[in-house]
Amino acid sequence: MKVLLVFAHPEPRSLNGALRDVAVEELESQGHEVRVSDLYADGWKSNIDRADFPWLTPDAQLVPIAASKKAFEANVLTEDVKAEIEKLSWADMLILQFPLWWFTMPAILKGWIDRVFAYGFAYGVGEHSDKRWGDRYGEGTLAGKRAMLIVTAGGWEEHYTARGINGPIDDLLFPINHGILYYPGYEVLPPFVVYRVDRFDEAGFQSAAERLRERMRTIETTSPTPYRQQNGGDYLIPSMQLRTELGDPGATGFALHLNGTDG
Ligand code: FAD
Repeated sequence: MKVLLVFAHPEPRSLNGALRDVAVEELESQGHEVRVSDLYADGWKSNIDRADFPWLTPDAQLVPIAASKKAFEANVLTEDVKAEIEKLSWADMLILQFPLWWFTMPAILKGWIDRVFAYGFAYGVGEHSDKRWGDRYGEGTLAGKRAMLIVTAGGWEEHYTARGINGPIDDLLFPINHGILYYPGYEVLPPFVVYRVDRFDEAGFQSAAERLRERMRTIETTSPTPYRQQNGGDYLIPSMQLRTELGDPGATGFALHLNGTDG
């Protein structure tokens, strides 16, 4: 497989840096081809602004969604964004790796998504009618490819369970896994999460590294999270409500959007 790993940590000697090396080494030893986008090292510009659309006249209002659409269609996105889109098109698998900061990804990675997941590429794709609400949530440009997260967290695993104070990790990561990765079509593998990392000792690191190696060995065979496809008939159009007869009556919130929760 061709794998793109997008790395969002400012320090190469960090735990994240060490885990990235473990992942890349294991993937390559399995015969996969790996490319890394190292956002801090590359000085990635994370904010969308007028510099992204230099062809806009000074008096023109910047409407990010319209400017993104026009730039993608006319192939005048900035070179850094075009390069990332080329890597995404090349890769069969996307890995986003980051430390959990304020319960989500670092701003630089969010800014990578904001700029690279352009209109016409990652959203605003497909027929928009009373039968289809565009190609998204399981369909879209990146359909047929796989994606997963590698995340390190300072908090304890118990703090991220159903009754844990931080909320369940799958809920916290839902906007990334479902809203960012599944939306443009990726099949999303369960995340690899390491907890309580700030007090890691050598044994903790070795155990996490071995778990990560195992995940890297199985990227082609691990079953993706069974999110419901938008246009597969489970949702009403245009309200986008899950049909009332679907979903376990006890299921609420994000869990409703998983297949297999029907009573
Ligand atoms: P590092 O600081 O580089 O390393 C962590 C430990 O691992 C070190 O003590 C080191 O001894 C050990 N280590 C590193 N490399 C190796 C190696 N090669 N071999 C053996 N041991 C090694 N946590 C949460 O749970 N939820 C949050 O919402 C959250 N928000 C945060 C917000 C901010 C702004 C910050 C700065 C931190 C936050 N944290 C949060 C904690 C954060 O998730 C962790 O600090 C981070 O995941 C640690 O990853 P790192 O790569 O920076 O680790």
